[in-house]
Formats: sequence, C-alpha cells, structure tokens
Amino acid sequence: MKKYHITTFGCQMNVHDSEVLAGILEKNGYSPAASVQEGDLILLNTCCVRENAENRLYGNIGNLKALKEQYPDCIIGVCGCMVQQPTVVEKIRKTYPQVDLVFGTHNLHELPKLLEKIEAERSQLYEVWDSEGEIHEGLPVKRNDPFKAWITIMYGCNNFCSYCIVPYVRGRERSRQPEAILAEVKDLIATGVKEITLLGQNVNSYGLDFKGVDFNFAKLLQEISALDIERIRFQTSHPKDLSDELIQVMADHPNICRHLHLPLQSGSSRILKLMNRHYTKESYLALAEKIKNKIPGIALTTDIIVGFPGETEADFQDTLDLVEKIRYDGAFTFIYSPRTGTPAAKIADPIPENDKKQRLTRLIQVQNEISLEKNRAFIGTLSEILVDGVSEKNPQIWSGRNTQNKLIHFKPASKIKPGDLAVVQINSAQTFTLEGELLV
Ligand code: SF4
Repeated sequence: MKKYHITTFGCQMNVHDSEVLAGILEKNGYSPAASVQEGDLILLNTCCVRENAENRLYGNIGNLKALKEQYPDCIIGVCGCMVQQPTVVEKIRKTYPQVDLVFGTHNLHELPKLLEKIEAERSQLYEVWDSEGEIHEGLPVKRNDPFKAWITIMYGCNNFCSYCIVPYVRGRERSRQPEAILAEVKDLIATGVKEITLLGQNVNSYGLDFKGVDFNFAKLLQEISALDIERIRFQTSHPKDLSDELIQVMADHPNICRHLHLPLQSGSSRILKLMNRHYTKESYLALAEKIKNKIPGIALTTDIIVGFPGETEADFQDTLDLVEKIRYDGAFTFIYSPRTGTPAAKIADPIPENDKKQRLTRLIQVQNEISLEKNRAFIGTLSEILVDGVSEKNPQIWSGRNTQNKLIHFKPASKIKPGDLAVVQINSAQTFTLEGELLV
C-alpha cells in the first residue's frame, strides 16, 4: 500500500483542504505515512497570506531534494494558495526540479487523475486551474478529530482588502447549498461529532451569490442550531457584513458558542480606508458594543496588522485605543507583509522596520495584559468544556475548551474521556490558558 504525507501551511481552510486531500488519497488506496521520509507521495499544501509562510515553503522544498535523490520514485507535490500565483509556479519550475506535481486550489478534486497521469508518464505535471468552476460536493474527508469537525460553507472572497492576496488565489465567493451543508452536519452528528466550525473567508456573506433566493448566514446558522449538535462555531466574520439578524440568532441559541472572531486589522479610520475594509473606528466600536450587550459573556478575539504602509504613530495610537476600549479576549497580531499583486504593495512605505517591530511589541504587551485580566475574571467560576484529551505540552495534564474558546487545563480522571462534556471549576489563570479542577 502506498503512503502519503501532507504538510499544511496557513489557515483553517487549508487545514480542512488537507483533510479532503487525505480523504481522497485514502479512498484511492493510500495510507498515512508516519514521517515525510516514509511517504511515496509527499504533498506541501501552501499558504501565501504572509511572506514567512512562503519562505518556509521554499525551505521545505529545498530540504526534500536529498530525499528525492535517495528515493527517486517518490512523488513530491505542491498545492494550495501559493501555486495559484504564476510567478510562484515559474520559480518552482526553474529552481526546484525535485517537484513532480503542482496543482491548485480549484482542481484539488482532480488529484487521483493527476496521480494516475504522473505514474503513467513518469514526468513532471504542472496543472493549476485559474478559474474556480463548480463546487464539488461529496469529496471524502479524513477528519483529524472524531469530536470536532470543520465544514467549509463557502469558497473565495469578494472583498479585496488592499493587503490581501486571498481573492486572487481563491477566486470569487461561491456558497454551498444549505441542503448539502445540513446533510454534512447531520452525518457528522451521527458519527459522534460534538462541535462543528463553519468555515469561509467571510461567512457573513454566505448566500449572497444565490440568485433570487432569500437565504443568508443567519438563516443557515439558525437551521443548524436546531439540530442535535452541542456546539457550533464559525469563522471568519467581516465586521462590515455582520448583521443584527446574525447577532440575534447567536443570542437566541446557546449551542452557538459565546465566542466571535471579529478581525479589526487597524483602529485608525484612515488606515481602514486604505485597507478597503468598509468600516470606521467608530462603527467597529459600536458593533462590538452591540454584540457584547446582546450576548452577555461573549469572548471577542481579533486580528490586527501593524505597520500598514504609511501608518503613523497617531494611527497606531488609534489601534491601541480601540484595543483598550473593546478589551479583546485575545488577538492575532502581525507586522504588515506586502503581497505582490495587491494594491497595498504599491503604496509607499516609509516606516522603518524597527518602528513596526516596536509597535508590535507594544500592542502585544497591552493585549496580553487585557487577556490575563479577562482570564482572571473566570477564577472561581464553573466552565463547561468539551474535553480534547492529553495536553500537547504536558502528558500529566488534560485540556478542553469552554464556549468562549478558552483553553482549560485540568488533572484527568478515569471517568472522563475525549469528546465528553465536563464541568471544571477554574482556580487560576494565565495569559493564554486557565487551570481548574474537574467536577463532573
Ligand atoms: S475579507 Fe479581506 S482579509 Fe479576509 S480573505 Fe477577503 S480580502 Fe482577505
């Protein structure tokens, strides 16, 4: 039996794409390899959102040269967002002869045919579709977790935030039919899945591409929440499209988790305009307040970019100001990474790299203090968690997450197993984790 190994870079959409690739391969007779060295097929599923993910990919391909020399029959494939860019494909073609197969995000379902062809002809195969085509339903999925499942509800993005490459590599928005999504959720429930996460680049515009049909993300969420599923999460939500209807559906259904990831990107209205985000500092703040009022106890997390071209100290202060006012539970913070082909990459950027690094450090410091303070508020309370099992860092400790998506560590007990819902009394808090005692 042939073995495959997949290395995944980037976001949850990519992680889930890799689950689909694994499902396709296992249906076609492959089994997972324990290491890259054991793989007859080695796939690198790439991300192009930030430069360091690209650099890591080239490092990985370079490292595979020796393996290819040792095992010339193994097939090395590169797929995912990066190879949707012709310049990247050219670079791979010229610089990395060890790569046998290149395919993109739009023809992932063609993998068995591509492998057949490559094995018959024993030559390199580069096949990247530049248009999205139809959604392919019913592809097999090899899920990594028996109790938590990712479900892609839509593909692509229409927003063209000026710094972002995603619309160019993932294409325009295409929503899956609600019947297909609901059937997938029901199948997952039947297999014992307790928590699902609905995925899209901007789930809030789900259904806008249905011609003449009045169906949107709030309605989809309402229908899913009526099923016998313990927990529902979703990501990502563009603030400009987050409707009152959606907030109400969240408030009305306790099985929709009390956590919302709401990317801010910048607290400066001037920079937000340059980013093409279609909201202002004031409108974002009003939205966050509305969500907190309507859904008590909700945890808000965000993404923030510092050092966007031309960001002044005053712009950065606006970001700090908003972070202090909203008091996020957590934030993913990044230094702006120029992406060739995006409008932002053409804006003059006079800010020294060192200033950007200092701003990032200051932002992280402020956010970490807030995160710790918010976590400390849980001390003495009870949290229901979905048990994940042994903690990644300490085999003596188990972990799970509560509805606010807080990672909670606890000492295991024989009556508890992964996938159980259990109650933990929180005794202490760190910046990124809580610790507690298992009660039920
Ligand atoms: S919403 Fe903006 S940041 Fe998010 S994927 Fe679309 S273009 Fe990129």
